[in-house]
Amino acid sequence: NPALTKIGAQMSNLTGVRAIMKDINETLRAGAGQELNNLSAGNPLILPEVEQLWRDCTAELLASPEYGEVVCRYGSSQGYAPLIEAIINDFNKRYGLNLTERNILITPGSQSLYFYAANSFGGYTTSGELKQIVLPLSPDYTGYGGVCLVPEALIAYKPTLDIDETAHRFKYRPDFSQLSISENTGCVIFSRPCNPTGNVLSDDEVKKIAALAAPYGVPVLIDSAYGPPFPALNFTEMTPVFGDNILHCMSLSKVGLPGERIGIAIGDQKMIQVLESFQTNLCIHPSRYGQAIAALAINSGALPTIAEQVIRPFYQNKFTVLENTLEAAMPKDLPWFLHRGEGAIFAWLWLQNLPITDWDFYQQLKQVGVIVVPGSTFFPGLREEWQHKHQCLRISLTGSDEEIVTGMQRLAKVVEETYQRA
Ligand code: PLP
Repeated sequence: NPALTKIGAQMSNLTGVRAIMKDINETLRAGAGQELNNLSAGNPLILPEVEQLWRDCTAELLASPEYGEVVCRYGSSQGYAPLIEAIINDFNKRYGLNLTERNILITPGSQSLYFYAANSFGGYTTSGELKQIVLPLSPDYTGYGGVCLVPEALIAYKPTLDIDETAHRFKYRPDFSQLSISENTGCVIFSRPCNPTGNVLSDDEVKKIAALAAPYGVPVLIDSAYGPPFPALNFTEMTPVFGDNILHCMSLSKVGLPGERIGIAIGDQKMIQVLESFQTNLCIHPSRYGQAIAALAINSGALPTIAEQVIRPFYQNKFTVLENTLEAAMPKDLPWFLHRGEGAIFAWLWLQNLPITDWDFYQQLKQVGVIVVPGSTFFPGLREEWQHKHQCLRISLTGSDEEIVTGMQRLAKVVEETYQRA
């Protein structure tokens, strides 16, 4: 085995869901042939209309003289110019902005964008100060845990909870009485809509966070992997928030191109330049085929339309199926709380006072053929102990309606038995 550096050792560890996926894959292999409801996946489904869109755009690209330019040549490290132009035109018109090509960076997936930002703005400065990467509301995307080369830089804050006892619903809110953004902050990151909870921070909450960061010139990365205008996986009203210190970050992974790896950053040119240089050093530039078909789909207007008319209703309906099944099947007298389904492709269930850990509960569920993701993986950067961390589950909305219904009915039974045994 080669000797590893500190960074080498850290980066060779699987973090978050990737670690659990190993256990899930083994379970799926061992259970081959037996009926398993796999409600763990973060991989979006292939929707026929979405696949057709990318087929059509590919045919158009193949037929155009641009094809050779796209796949046979290196490009600029900022991204493929026609895609950058398509985004500028769309966003300026849609949101009344004055973006120019200097405000845009295309990256190989948005995960890499968070890697560049976390390590450009977070970690030790040349004078040895530690700049923190602040996650203002924990739980949040588990992938943020893996992107920091200086793990001690990552710090997450516990939220407050709005609880509706009779409806068995709850919602997280940022706890502004605890949240600290100061000269020690390097950057702020959060997802909106949120993976894993489906939470959408309100426009006011977002503006308040951005305003706390502004006096220190701290970049605020708003991870809009599920946001409008595409994939538009928000089930509640929300407006993207732009501003001098805001980096609006997008991904094409949830509009049918996860394999093409396309992330988009929109923001002030000084921040964009820093990230672009990081990218040049790391990988020169993202691959261009996906960018070229994305440019066609944005210019024609097909992408935002399919997002709103196909992708959003598809997953919103899945959430309704899940919600209705839990309503009917869960014991009324137990303290279970479903997070308000405001967006993304997951449901988040909190089992208050659960007598066993989320990990043990996950094992129990596997016994009845249901696979979800234990919630404790979604609290990267949260240092303090918190019971709540071990009382939650992420349930994917990528199952068929039938899988969701039987999965939730079996889950309700396991919940009942678990509380009874205690
Ligand atoms: N951010 C969030 C909230 C996600 O859920 C994901 C993927 O699931 C990503 C970022 C990374 O997406 P990608 O690198 O495919 O753009």
